[in-house]
Amino acid sequence: MFLEYDVIIVGAGPGGSAAALILADSGLRVAMLDKATFPRDKVCGDFIAGHGIRALREISPKAYERLQVLPEKAANKSTLLFIGDATPMEFFWKLRSYTVRRIDFDNLLVEEVLATGKVDFFPGHGLKRIEREDKRFVLSCQNGVQFKCNLVIGADGAHSVVARQLAGFSVDREHYGGSVRAYFTGVKNIQASANEVYVHKEVVPGYFWLFPIGPNSANVGLGMHSRHIMKHKVDLKAQFHEFIKSHPVLQTKLGTAQMEGSLQGFGLPFYSKEQCIHGDGFMLIGDAASLIDPSNGEGIMLALQSGKMAAEQAIKAINQGNWEAAALAPYYLAVRNKWWKEMRLKAWAVNNFAHRYRVLNAIGWLGEKSPALRRMLQKLM
Ligand SMILES: Cc1cc2nc3c(=O)[nH]c(=O)nc-3n(C[C@H](O)[C@H](O)[C@H](O)COP(=O)(O)OP(=O)(O)OC[C@H]3O[C@@H](n4cnc5c(N)ncnc54)[C@H](O)[C@@H]3O)c2cc1C
Repeated sequence: MFLEYDVIIVGAGPGGSAAALILADSGLRVAMLDKATFPRDKVCGDFIAGHGIRALREISPKAYERLQVLPEKAANKSTLLFIGDATPMEFFWKLRSYTVRRIDFDNLLVEEVLATGKVDFFPGHGLKRIEREDKRFVLSCQNGVQFKCNLVIGADGAHSVVARQLAGFSVDREHYGGSVRAYFTGVKNIQASANEVYVHKEVVPGYFWLFPIGPNSANVGLGMHSRHIMKHKVDLKAQFHEFIKSHPVLQTKLGTAQMEGSLQGFGLPFYSKEQCIHGDGFMLIGDAASLIDPSNGEGIMLALQSGKMAAEQAIKAINQGNWEAAALAPYYLAVRNKWWKEMRLKAWAVNNFAHRYRVLNAIGWLGEKSPALRRMLQKLM
């Protein structure tokens, strides 16, 4: 017995939910599967930059409104950049951005999908196998449930089964990052409106972050390029604790704070190489398509936007009766045109400078005096 749909979205993170919200009004039979049951956590820095918030507003004004009234979140106006021992530089953002726990944000989006009443949601349905059969897909879940559909949107994150089985993706450490993060309460000397980023010789090529989510609570983490982690056998968890202990400013903030739960790690597939993110009957979005900014690890905005773009292309393709690779190619081209030039430049900057601590340190000192340099840094952040 198969459950049959026109479109199945695999994964209910920001990318999958964005796609579902666009598809809800299409008149198509749509299902969204997730291996987890919601609310569920996702290891993340929880920072949604202004253009991500703007994308959310376009996709679902109701979800945007609900985010405004969500009690535990921080509205961020600026980022404080600490480079070495130089005076921190503060960058102010034009658009409103938020830091909000992913357990709350992702659940809010799923609830909005459910509120449409037009998308069938199957939590606790982890995809195990996906096969093509007579121009349709058969999806088999770990719990034995099977689905059939014409078109699949792979939104199942950094370890995507859809990307692996349909597009042949595998983890490429040259274009990947590793990170750890934990929540802290009792944090001192922070402003909820200012995110903090630390670039220091112990954490490059990468950075340490302290993103407030309330007046005394914060998401705290450390991320690095996987090439460096592998080459130098870096133990990210140990490095995270060492850095807090050794950094005088962080000691004033986190020295007496309590860590909630455990320090958790997760991978980041960077958009620093070109890959084909579509094929006959499928499109990949968000982390499943490796759409993470290689300079700062931002992926929520790209997941939301690529989810919207893929859903719009799916509606066109199905209405025209053709969802072969060529009919879905406009999605791939739209993603490429929107971000590839910027991502390639950022990847170049990361590959050439992120490991050169002396250069970074000089930038830290010069940045204080040079508005042009600060503008350039702001573009990279
Ligand atoms: C430590 C860390 C910090 C980060 N910080 C930030 C940040 O501050 N800001 C930012 O913008 N980005 C950040 N990112 C990146 C961001 O987390 C991702 O880019 C974003 O979550 C991508 O959304 P998504 O919907 O593509 O995938 P996900 O959010 O990963 O959602 C994928 C969904 O698919 C489900 N799934 C997985 N496998 C299956 C399966 N086999 N079957 C069914 N369902 C499945 C999962 O349960 C999950 O719900 C960070 C990443 C990490 C690791």
